[in-house]
Amino acid sequence: MAIATTNPATGEMLKTFDPMGEKQIEEILANAAEAAAALRATTFDQRAAWMREAALLLEGEVVEVARLVTLEMGKRIEEAKAEVAKCASACRYYAAHAERFLADMPADARAVGARRAYTRFEPLGPVLAIMPWNFPLWQVMRFAAPALMAGNPGLLKHASNVPQTALYLDELFDRAGFPPGAFQTLLVGSDAVENILLDHRVRAATLTGSAPAGRAVAAIAGRALKKTVLELGGSDPYVVMPSADFDRAVSTAVRARCQNNGQSCIAAKRFIVHGEVYDAFARAFTDQMANLVVGEPLDHGVDIGPLATAQGRDEVAAQVDDAVAKGATVLTGGRAPDRPGWYYPPTVVTDLTHDMRMYQEEVFGPVAGLYRVASLDEALELANTTSYGLGSNAWTNDPGEQRRFVSELAAGQVFVNGMVTSHPELPFGGVRDSGYGRELSDLGIREFCNAKAVWVG
Ligand code: NAP
Repeated sequence: MAIATTNPATGEMLKTFDPMGEKQIEEILANAAEAAAALRATTFDQRAAWMREAALLLEGEVVEVARLVTLEMGKRIEEAKAEVAKCASACRYYAAHAERFLADMPADARAVGARRAYTRFEPLGPVLAIMPWNFPLWQVMRFAAPALMAGNPGLLKHASNVPQTALYLDELFDRAGFPPGAFQTLLVGSDAVENILLDHRVRAATLTGSAPAGRAVAAIAGRALKKTVLELGGSDPYVVMPSADFDRAVSTAVRARCQNNGQSCIAAKRFIVHGEVYDAFARAFTDQMANLVVGEPLDHGVDIGPLATAQGRDEVAAQVDDAVAKGATVLTGGRAPDRPGWYYPPTVVTDLTHDMRMYQEEVFGPVAGLYRVASLDEALELANTTSYGLGSNAWTNDPGEQRRFVSELAAGQVFVNGMVTSHPELPFGGVRDSGYGRELSDLGIREFCNAKAVWVG
């Protein structure tokens, strides 16, 4: 894939970039190693001050940055602005809490025959962050804020279709005052990842992206015995039971599916509805999906913009076509409009069976699969049927059902009577093919630390 900005709303290529060569990569790796030493010599207070400055810069530049993001990957301008604000809040969250999260953790000294015993958290060193385009600021920031607060330099290999956002982030932490090399962008394609990750100066890697990319990067890291965190795809279930607040369940379902033009790892993708409310849900949900306004993402009053790439749009269309060819029913949408740009309409598909791609795979666009079930057991079985396990949504006001969803949904997150959202205060990550490791919260900042046991006799 070329490293280029191409406007998804028009298909027009606006700017291309040459990938960095060996010499430039070497310079960046050397800078990162120096920055690791420089960061270790700084205090939490100093790093927190720089992190708060980064938050201020983001807030001051929200209009320009949001526009850039919309231009590169097509999300609605309001969502782009919200993403900038969320990044600023993550900066402040880790500025405020990193020192407490990484404070020495006392152990029972007597039990281990010591005068003093504790766990100390130390930075690992430069971490390679391989990131996707869908939340091109937020995915990076939820790695960068804790990493830098822990004292780990970041090396960003961003998705090839968001190079200008990557370059903005390259400068942001520099401008905020962090030592040179603390956070740098490597403008390279995925073919350059292997050599970079095998370099002795890179100590670990985090990847947010698809399962195939996760497997490839974990295999390389495994050869060099380097720690990885993998945040991969998902096909989140959204279960609606008869006791649910029906209207909220419907309107939230639309948002949960169509946020970010349907391109979110934690978007609800499979809607599993109890037979007692299925017909009413199918009607109301389909109506609301059909009424969404599709259009230019820079315009106000638009609900859904284009998909980020031509390839992504074609993939979604192929998944729907495959289901239709095998007997599924389209309740609304289902056909890409004949207009420039990579648009795909809000779509609801039902009568899905396990031989269809939509049944098993992640659908990365505004396409909902709708399923009828007769019982809680059936709902749980269907919810857990894919190989993924990222987020999950359950709508019920029955306390017994809530307990069963919380304990039996195979997922990194369970949201009851609400839609899955990431919060700095809660750990974020998946199980099974959705990856491993956690971002955000205290768990996220400790992922790239050496938890050193200290025993003093
Ligand atoms: P992708 O194709 O896997 O790309 C993600 C990143 O990995 C890009 O920087 C890409 O670089 C790089 N990459 C791809 N193949 C690679 C390889 N073999 N070796 C090294 N690097 C490689 O994913 P995407 O289509 O951009 O993003 C959508 C996917 O990300 C969806 O599955 C979505 O669910 C998932 N996602 C997960 C989370 C989460 O938190 N769990 C969050 C957001 C998105 P190039 O662009 O240069 O190819």
